[in-house]
Amino acid sequence: MPFGNAYFIIGNAYAGKSTLARLLAEKHGGILCGENWHDSYPEPLDAEAFPGLCYTRDLKDWHEFIRRTPEAYKAWVDETARECEILELRMLPELCAQGRPVFVDTNISVETLKTIAAPGHVLIMLADPDVSVRRFFERPDAEKQFLYRLLLEEPDPAAAMENYRKGLMLINSQENFDRLLSAGFPVLLRDETRTAEETLALAERIFGLEDCIRLRPHHGMCFRFYEGKGYSAEFTDHMGGVIRALSERPDTQVRLTCSADSVCEHCPNNVGGTCQSADKVMRYDAAVLDACGFKDGDEPAYADFAARVKERILDAGLRRGICGDCEWDAICAKHRREP
Ligand code: SF4
Repeated sequence: MPFGNAYFIIGNAYAGKSTLARLLAEKHGGILCGENWHDSYPEPLDAEAFPGLCYTRDLKDWHEFIRRTPEAYKAWVDETARECEILELRMLPELCAQGRPVFVDTNISVETLKTIAAPGHVLIMLADPDVSVRRFFERPDAEKQFLYRLLLEEPDPAAAMENYRKGLMLINSQENFDRLLSAGFPVLLRDETRTAEETLALAERIFGLEDCIRLRPHHGMCFRFYEGKGYSAEFTDHMGGVIRALSERPDTQVRLTCSADSVCEHCPNNVGGTCQSADKVMRYDAAVLDACGFKDGDEPAYADFAARVKERILDAGLRRGICGDCEWDAICAKHRREP
């Protein structure tokens, strides 16, 4: 998974995507890719390849922008979203390689996200389509307020506003809302009674970023026979600390996750949130979940998880069949007789 440490937020207008991405980045020491972050793409764009983005780049009179028909506006928004996706996918690898979580306020398509995002790393935020249109300009950001001023400068501001709203209605249609709602990713609906902090907490839960310990299922086996060896001094110090903390507090809730976890955080094989042996460790994780009767995202107490690993894998003699090709196999093998 090339973007294992990227968290994607998509949705319609006025749903709160920008605010949430900013809060997540602030709280989790992450990189913020806020609204229109593709503007920082370092190379000049070719007008033939990127007609949507170059339309605004080369625009002489912004009144033209708001005078387009609703259909032309919608077509431009669709085209621009497609072009932004191309640029964002070019820019993301370098950001992800920094190793910090990357929070992306984006219009990358659902279809693309299904192929590039790590499990549990996409959130859809939706406002009622009527609210998306009606309250579009009730935001302080400079771009919206600039457009609003342009509309007021038109010879017939009411007609100009009505024309613009029709374009917004096409973009924020009920059809688009329904499509996103049923896309198969977690959805947060805008709720005026919810505070920003409460929305942040919900998103953290969806993204698995709460303060609980994230654990790759196969690390339940590694923990059993760990004897202080590992990929680097930093890694072993940290892994030892995680094992100690869980041993002292076995009632701690852990989130089972088939992606980078609390142990991987300090591993040199963790490059941009993705394990360099991703295929192999994902196979181990899936086998442990299967044998123990858990699924990705479950949150058992550590004691319950460790007990199942012991009973259903180690005592049952299944360990070698799951991770016998691991480079550390000899350490675990000497602890018990295995088939
Ligand atoms: S080798 Fe991979 S799975 Fe194991 S701790 Fe390192 S990054 Fe995580």
